[in-house]
Order: sequence, then structure tokens, then C-alpha cells
Amino acid sequence: MSELYCAGCGVKIQTTDPDKLGYAPSSALQHEPIVCQRCFRLTHYNEIQDVSLNGDDFLNMLSRIAQEDALVVYLVDLFDIAGSWVSGLQRFVGHNPILLVGNKHDLFPKSTNPNKLTNWMRRSAHEQGLKPVDVLLMSAGKNHGLDEIASNIDYYRKGRDVYVVGVTNVGKSTFINHLISNLGSGDSAITTSRFPGTTLDFIEIPLDDGRSLYDTPGVVNDHQVAHFVDARDYKIVMPLKEVKPKVYQLNEKQTLFLGGIARIDYIGPGRRSLIVYCAGSLPIHRTKTEQADDLYERQFGRLLAPPGEGTELPSMTRYDFRTDDFDSDVVFSGLGWITIKGKGARVSAYAPKGIGVSLRASII
Ligand code: GDP
Repeated sequence: MSELYCAGCGVKIQTTDPDKLGYAPSSALQHEPIVCQRCFRLTHYNEIQDVSLNGDDFLNMLSRIAQEDALVVYLVDLFDIAGSWVSGLQRFVGHNPILLVGNKHDLFPKSTNPNKLTNWMRRSAHEQGLKPVDVLLMSAGKNHGLDEIASNIDYYRKGRDVYVVGVTNVGKSTFINHLISNLGSGDSAITTSRFPGTTLDFIEIPLDDGRSLYDTPGVVNDHQVAHFVDARDYKIVMPLKEVKPKVYQLNEKQTLFLGGIARIDYIGPGRRSLIVYCAGSLPIHRTKTEQADDLYERQFGRLLAPPGEGTELPSMTRYDFRTDDFDSDVVFSGLGWITIKGKGARVSAYAPKGIGVSLRASII
């Protein structure tokens, strides 16, 4: 078989191992466009499929960027910053400038302060050793902010090539497809015949001035919530539209469970508002902290669901926070956040090991 590349994510197609990246059943090769099973399920059934990427191939691919003189557009999911990082990216891209773009802005309430959001992204990027030239927000899926991103790419690339990098699920394909349709090729989707991948699975999209924009395959980041729950539960825990605040007045030593996947204990002092921003479909359960462990033990997968009964989650990890002298958000990466009103609060947050939990100044 001559080498074929997925029209969705750019990975090399293979027909032998269903658990490996790029798998497509032989029968799928009869239909154009040829896509890997993962992309097929994602687009047709909204289903997430776990795949493994050969780490060496990915590192080879990234280190090619360091040898180029290019702009790197780094896409992250604003709702899942911790699940969005490509570890060691700065090393791989060398001295090339990085334009950091946060996608899925539409999930945030309209009252969100965009400056607070970009400041938080910048701080998170610094913690990863990254110094982006700029930080921008967009909603690729809602076709919002894309023109501004395109003109910023043009400004920052200064006549150079562009590499678009991001882990899976951040919305990279959605973004690239939009760029392609705007670049005047007249095509609404990447096609392998038009933009053949190289041996390193890059998809090349020609730009007006003879330069190119390269779409790199998305590497899987195991810290994403998508890898902890099955596809059905994922649709419940992951917000699909703007998250709406749910206000709780908590006394000291009260606990909130977000389904069975996250928990926050309000230690004190005093009575105070906690505002939950997460998918409307994720049930919230309130209890006394002294009963919380027992409740979790007995009701995980039932009252405290999703995930459904029988799901094996990594052990719950506890994070202790003391809020500063402003409203603060405890962020559960990929799930949402809880705003703690007022200063000096003590809370403990719990999430399965691997899911990022962090504190930021409130963005509302
Ligand atoms: P990729 O794996 O990075 O190429 O990501 P996709 O483009 O396949 O998108 C992953 C998921 O995020 C899909 O379910 C998209 O519908 C969704 N998505 C992409 N862009 C946006 C956006 O701007 N807002 C929201 N809410 N969802 C988005």
C-alpha cells in the first residue's frame, strides 16, 4: 500500500493495529476523504478514542521546528490548560517565537474579563518555561475571533513559515479547516491529495507568498479528562456551551461534589458563597465534610456520577488552598472552576491524579 495520510489529523494511515494511532479498517480506504478511525468517530459520533502515538516520531517531528526560522502557533484548550501542554515545547521549537492561542472561549460566561483570562494563560505559560510573543483568545468551533488570529499570524510570522502545534482535542482541526477555507483554496477540509503529508506527518498548506503553514499531528496528553471517563460520560462532564454559574452558600466544613469526579471541601472561616462553573449536565451534590469520604465510598457511580458505576478512576489527589485578598477560582482542568468569594478562605480540592487543579485570581 502506498503511504496514505488521514485527511483529518494528518497521521499516517495503518490498517493493522486498532489501538495504535492512524488505524483505519481496510474498507475505509475505498472512500474519499480517507480518515483514521479516531477522526471518523470524533466527527461522526462525537466519540473520543484513545490512541497512542509513537513518542520518538513526535519528538522527531517537533525538533524539526527548532531547525527552521518560523512562527509557532501553539493552540491550547482554555478549559483544559493543564491537559493542553506539550511538555518541553520551548526546547523543541528553539528560538522561534510562540504565539499562544486559547481556544473554546465560547464556553466562558460573557461576563468573563478577557484580560484576566489572557493574564492567567501567560502566567501558566511562564510556569511551563514558555514566553509567548502574544496571547490570543478564539472560538474556532463558533467561528469567533479567527480573523483576528489570522491577521496576527500574518503580522508575527514576518514572511516566515508557520507551524501549528497542539495536543489532541484542543480544536486544532477545526481551526486549520477554517484557515484553509479562508486561504482561498476553495476547499472546506484538508485533503490528502491537495496537501500531502511529509514522512513526518506534517500537512502543508501553501500561503500566498510562497511560504507554508504546517499542521503538525496532535499528540495525546494523558492528563485530559477525556482519557479518564468513557465517551458517554465525557459528554456529560465536558461543557458544550457557555457555563452558567450555580451559587452555593456554604457553612464551614461543608463539601460539594461535582458528580463523582471532583470535590471541594470548604474549611472556613465563616459562611461564604462558592460559585460553580461547569457543564449544566454535571450534577452537584452538597454534604457535610465529615460524611464526604463515606458518601464517596458508598455512592461513587450512583448518586455521585458520572463517571458511571464500575469506572476505574486514578486515586483522588488533595490540593489545599488558602485564597488571597480577592475572589479566587479553584480550576479543575477540563471540568470548570469554583469561585470562592471573599478573602482568606481555606479549601481542599480533590480530583483524580493527573487532572490539573490550580488556583487563579477570579476571571469574572
Ligand atoms: P483536535 O483534536 O485538536 O484537532 O480538535 P478538534 O478540532 O477535533 O476539536 C475537538 C473537540 O472540540 C470537538 O468536539 C470540537 O467540536 C470541539 N471544539 C473545537 N473548537 C471549539 C470551540 O471553539 N468551542 C467549543 N465549545 N468546542 C470546540
